[in-house]
Amino acid sequence: MAEHRSQADSDPWGGLSSTHGGVARDARHDQLEPPDGLERIWAPWRFGYVAGGAPIQGCPFCVLPARDPGEDRASLILQRGDHAYVVLNAYPYNPGHVMVIPYAHVADLEDVSDDALGDVWTLARRAVVVLKQRLGCQGVNLGANLGSAAGAGIAPHLHIHVVPRWAGDTNFMSVVGAARVLPRALQEIYDELAPGFA
Ligand SMILES: [Zn+2]
Repeated sequence: MAEHRSQADSDPWGGLSSTHGGVARDARHDQLEPPDGLERIWAPWRFGYVAGGAPIQGCPFCVLPARDPGEDRASLILQRGDHAYVVLNAYPYNPGHVMVIPYAHVADLEDVSDDALGDVWTLARRAVVVLKQRLGCQGVNLGANLGSAAGAGIAPHLHIHVVPRWAGDTNFMSVVGAARVLPRALQEIYDELAPGFA
């Protein structure tokens, strides 16, 4: 599991990433995949961090918003604030897992500006609303892993996770080597969420 999560945070919240999953759902979470025996796992890390893009050199949380806003869909950026932005996590714990990230390349919470903090929380609130309204999630995990010792995958650039939750979802998000990949999944979920941020 760890090798597939090399760029993602390790499980910060107990129960979010079972290692025995295999029950996957479609983007709307209202039905199980056809019982064809395949384990359709949400495994977009094999798809690359950005759809159709080359591997990112440098800090992805700096590189993504530096791109032309016209590329936001490909970059999975859902909203740009003045000091922070919202991006769909390419390594999600659950479908619809987004991150709120200050533009500034800052590792420590104590170094984040007041303006950026304000933007982060305003955008996080928006994300919660959008996940409830457009994905019908029943709960949300919201938090940050500050520092690699706390499980941060990209520790040098602070980011806040906003993870939609559904009752009983703990056994479907997992990383299984033989799982079938759904390469379009990220773009589809992006299109589902984007109108909520417009
Ligand atoms: Zn950065």
